[in-house]
Amino acid sequence: MTATLNSALPQTAPARPVLLRVEGLGKYFSSPRRPVLQEVSFTLAPGEILGLLGPSGCGKTTLLRIIAGFDAPSQGRVELDGRELSGPGVLAPPERRQTGMVFQDYALFPHLTVADNVAFGLQAQRKSLGKSGVQARVKEVLTLVGLADLGERYPHQLSGGQQQRIALARALAPRPSLILLDEPLSNLDVQVRQRLRHEIRHILKAAQMAAIFVTHDQEEALAIADQIGVMRGGILEQWGAPEDIYSRPASRFVAEFVNQANFLPAQCYGDCWRTELGDWPLPRPEAPGQAGELMIREEELRLRPDPEGTLIIRDRQFLGREYRYCLETPSGCQLHARAPLETPLPVGARVQVSASAASPPVFTLGKEDA
Ligand code: ATP
Repeated sequence: MTATLNSALPQTAPARPVLLRVEGLGKYFSSPRRPVLQEVSFTLAPGEILGLLGPSGCGKTTLLRIIAGFDAPSQGRVELDGRELSGPGVLAPPERRQTGMVFQDYALFPHLTVADNVAFGLQAQRKSLGKSGVQARVKEVLTLVGLADLGERYPHQLSGGQQQRIALARALAPRPSLILLDEPLSNLDVQVRQRLRHEIRHILKAAQMAAIFVTHDQEEALAIADQIGVMRGGILEQWGAPEDIYSRPASRFVAEFVNQANFLPAQCYGDCWRTELGDWPLPRPEAPGQAGELMIREEELRLRPDPEGTLIIRDRQFLGREYRYCLETPSGCQLHARAPLETPLPVGARVQVSASAASPPVFTLGKEDA
C-alpha cells in the first residue's frame, strides 16, 4: 500500500551551526541498479546526537562506514568541521577523520588491561601528550564513564555493559569531533540496555560530543537522540526531532516503524475527515470523497464501558502496567487501545471510544490503494 502524508506543513528549519554535513550520498556495491544508499543528505550540529533508525538492510551501517572512512561513497560528499572527508577525488583515511567508533561487539583487546585499551585510542597523540599526559587522559575518560576503579582489570573480568562503556571511553579519549556508534547495545540484555542508553546519553552530553547512534530499536533511538533519521531501502525517509517523528510521521512506514499505531479509514466530506469514531477538521483542502487513513496512537484512544457502545472488545493483553485491548468497530476495522489495570474490561464487552488527538496525521490514499 502506498500512502502519503497530507497534514505536514512545510518546515522552515531555523539556521543552526553545522558540524557534519552529508550531501547527496549514494552507494552501490556491484549493481548501480540496486543502490544501497540514495541521495542521503543531513546535517548535524555540534554536541547533537543523531539516532539512525531503520529495519535490517536499509543501509544504516553502510552510511556509518562511509562517514567513518571505511567505505567510499559512489556519489555525494561528507564534510566534518568544514573539512571535506569524502567526495569526488577525496577520501581521507579513517585515522585522519577525527571520528571515534564504537562497535556492537565492543572490539576490546583481550590481552590488554582496561587502562591500556583506553590508552590505545591515544596512540596518535602519545608523543604530544607524553606518558603522564596519556595516563591523565585515560583516568579522565574512565571517570567520565564511571569506571575509574577498573583500570587494571582485563575485559573478560567486566560485564558486557562495562565493556561497552570502556569501548566508549576509548573512542572519546582522543577528543574526536564525532563519535559513531553501531548498534552498541544489541549484545546486552534488556535491563542493561535500558540503563546503558541513559548512561551513554549522559556521558556524550557531559563530554559535549556529537554522535551518530545506529539502532533498529525505535524506543532506544527516541530515548537517546536529539534528532532521528528514519531510513528505508537506502533512503532517508524522514529526519527530525523525536517528538516530530513520533507525532507527525511523514509516511505510513515511519508511523508504523516508530511505534504501534491505529490507521482509521477516513473519507473527505465538506471541511472534515469522516471516520467511524467521528469527524476531524481538514488540515488542508482535499477533493470531496478523497479516501485517507487517520493515524491515532494506541495511547490516544480512551475507552468507556457502555452496553449500547458500538465497539466490541475482541481481545485483552496484560502488559504489566496496563492492558492493551483489541477492539472491533461496526465495519469490522480492528483498533488497539491501552487502559489502566484498575478497571479491567472483559472480552466481549461493548465500549465507546473517543480519541484525544486534535489533529491526527492523515495519509491520503491513491487510486491504487482504494
Ligand atoms: P542491519 O541492521 O541488519 O545491520 P543495515 O541497515 O545496517 O542492516 P547495511 O549493513 O548497511 O544495512 O546493508 C545494506 C545493504 O547493503 C544490504 O542489502 C547488504 O546486503 C548490502 N551490503 C552491505 N555491505 C555490502 C558489501 N560489502 N557488498 C555488497 N553488498 C553489501
